[in-house]
Amino acid sequence: MSKLIQAIRGMNDILPEETPKWQFVEQQFRKLMAAYGYAEIRFPIVEKTELFKRSIGEVTDIVEKEMYTFEDRNGDSLSLRPEGTAACVRACLQHGLLYNQSRRLWYLGPMFRHERPQKGRYRQFYQLGVEAFGFSGPDIDAEMIMMSARLWQRLGIADSVTLELNSLGSIESRRAYRDILVAYLNEHREQLDADSLRRLQSNPLRILDSKNPDMQALIEAAPKLNAHLDEASREHFVKLCNLLDAAGITYRLNSRLVRGLDYYSKTVFEWVTDRLGAQGTICAGGRFDGLVEQLGGRATTAMGFAIGLERLVLLIDEAQFARYDSAPQVYLLALGDAAEIRAIELAEQCRDALPELRLLLNAGGGGMKSQMKKADRSGAQFALILADDELARNEITIKDLRGEMQQQALSQIGLVEFLKSSLKL
Ligand code: ATP
Ligand code: MG
Repeated sequence: MSKLIQAIRGMNDILPEETPKWQFVEQQFRKLMAAYGYAEIRFPIVEKTELFKRSIGEVTDIVEKEMYTFEDRNGDSLSLRPEGTAACVRACLQHGLLYNQSRRLWYLGPMFRHERPQKGRYRQFYQLGVEAFGFSGPDIDAEMIMMSARLWQRLGIADSVTLELNSLGSIESRRAYRDILVAYLNEHREQLDADSLRRLQSNPLRILDSKNPDMQALIEAAPKLNAHLDEASREHFVKLCNLLDAAGITYRLNSRLVRGLDYYSKTVFEWVTDRLGAQGTICAGGRFDGLVEQLGGRATTAMGFAIGLERLVLLIDEAQFARYDSAPQVYLLALGDAAEIRAIELAEQCRDALPELRLLLNAGGGGMKSQMKKADRSGAQFALILADDELARNEITIKDLRGEMQQQALSQIGLVEFLKSSLKL
């Protein structure tokens, strides 16, 4: 036998036992997007490398260390998308979607980052992303946060997550703060670790985000970003907090929340949990009013967030998820050649009449015992049995595999009615 080929490290198969949970989350997300009037957009998985460099920033972790970049056969530098926002903006500009109008959009799909794989951190992972363009007020920030809060409720995880909130101010005020911060950190250079020394030049705000315990005292005492906000950003932030208060959404103000990407300004937020160890952020986002212009469009305000689907799926507990059942409801057994032909016919009739019905038809023959075993294993509520006896009388035998109902023979004509009422279809 030849050697088995394994998947690439950090890139997961999602097996049939797990996909129902994914489908449940995706379905809830899609319904939520429809409820708030957001439209789906799809864009390619591969883009020109330059797109990500220009949007995410040259000196961010993603662009410096995490991108899957390669030359294609024409010699162009391409990258697997590490996130969705840049490509979303690119597609909007290319197709004139932002021309004199606002947009509310969402997307869902795999992203790629060359990170160290561990629980909740992978090299291919899925994001649910939401972006709104052309809304400058805090009302859209509030809408997005409320929308995400509603999703946690619908997924039954609202008790496991908390909201962290901050404002980064305008790009100009952030630049001014950056100088103040660098001056402070320079004064305490001897306390900086190697990572922070490197970031002092390239991305000093990220130092505030350091998880190194030895640096915490220094960071706590650092000048606070929110004490240096410009007036417009401060007003925007106060209004947002008022809207969230009115909506009954609780949050923690976290002045160290800076996010890893260059393009954010004003509002930033994260939903975090303590149930996933170090990979505690399940949703992150903020305002990126400068990005559209940076990518060659007209200045357009923008706000968005992305949810890590793997981390979300890890959080959803089985009890809550039981509401979403994807197992077959009915298993149809067919014994003998004639019964097999009639069974296909009956199964199709049931599916015609009951589009929501989940019916599994026995395939591959087998005796009564082995077919019943398969019926039981399938998780179906009812086994429907079609053998010579039933055929001769135009009947079908119904056996309740999970409940109390007596086994009974039913006229085939009455089958649809029976399933409809007993399965509430
Ligand atoms: P982290 O700080 O955990 O690295 P990030 O700031 O790099 O996250 P974003 O770029 O904001 O993450 O992506 C939004 C969300 O996507 C994250 O909050 C997380 O839930 C998820 N995510 C990011 N990177 C990964 C990954 N490598 N594997 C799984 N999920 C991820
Ligand atoms: Mg990261």
